[in-house]
Amino acid sequence: MKKYIVHFSILASFFLLFSCNDNNKLTEVVEVPLPTKEEKITIGSPNDVKADPGSFEMTKLPYSYDGLAPAIRTLTLETHYSKHYLTYTNNFNKEIANTEFENMPLEDIFKKMDLSNAKLRQNAGGYYNHTLYFNILTPKEQTPKDTLASAIDKEFGSFANLTNQFKGQATKQFGSGWVWLVVDRYGKLQVTTTENQDNPLMKNALIPGTPILGIDLWEHAYYLDYQNRKGSYIDAFYEHINWEKVNEYYIEALKKVKKV
Ligand code: MN
Repeated sequence: MKKYIVHFSILASFFLLFSCNDNNKLTEVVEVPLPTKEEKITIGSPNDVKADPGSFEMTKLPYSYDGLAPAIRTLTLETHYSKHYLTYTNNFNKEIANTEFENMPLEDIFKKMDLSNAKLRQNAGGYYNHTLYFNILTPKEQTPKDTLASAIDKEFGSFANLTNQFKGQATKQFGSGWVWLVVDRYGKLQVTTTENQDNPLMKNALIPGTPILGIDLWEHAYYLDYQNRKGSYIDAFYEHINWEKVNEYYIEALKKVKKV
C-alpha cells in the first residue's frame, strides 16, 4: 500500500510541473497585444446612413470611415458622421418642418432666425457646420493652390502665417466651438471663432462672413483619438484639409461678395 502512495505522489509532482509549463505558455499567449476595442466593433458604411425625410440632406462622405486614419480614426469618424451629424440633420429638419424656414435657403435661415430659439440655433448650426467639416477633409495631404494660394499670400503674408493664426486660435478656443477661415463682407480672408454650434453666418458673429474652412473643436471630434491632446488633433486635422475644395468655396464666396 505504501508503495502505491509513493508512486502517486511522484506522478502528481510531474503533473504539477507540466501544468506550470503550460501556465507559462498561456501567459506568453496572453502577452500578445489584444485587439483594441475599436477593432472588435463592427463599422458600418457611410452610404447606409440616411436622415429622415426633410428639407435638408446629409452630405455624402467624400471618403471612407477609415480614410483619415490614423489622424482621425475610424470609430471617431463613424460616430461623428453617423451619430452626431445625423442627429443634427434630423433635429434641424424637425425644427423647421411646417414653418417659414421649411423651403428657405440655409444662409437665409441664419440671417432670419431668432437666436433665442436655442433648438433651431443649435441644430441649424450643427447641420451646416458638420456639412462643411466633412467636405473640407481628404485622405492625402495638400497645400493651397491657384486663386486661394495667392489670396493667402497677399492677405496673411504667407501660408505659414495663416497656419499659425488658425492653429493658434484653435488651441486658444475655450470649451466647445469652431475656428473658421471666412470670406468677410468685403471679400477679405479672416480667421475667426464661434462658440458651441454657432457660425459666422449668424447675426451674432464677431466677424460675419462665409466659412470656407472650419475645425470642429468639440471633444467628440477628437477625444477617442487624442484625449486631452487637443493640439495633436489640430495638427492632424490640418494635414487632411482638402485645399482644392476650400479653393472652390473661396471662389463661390467671392462671387457672393461681388454681387452685393
Ligand atoms: Mn462635431
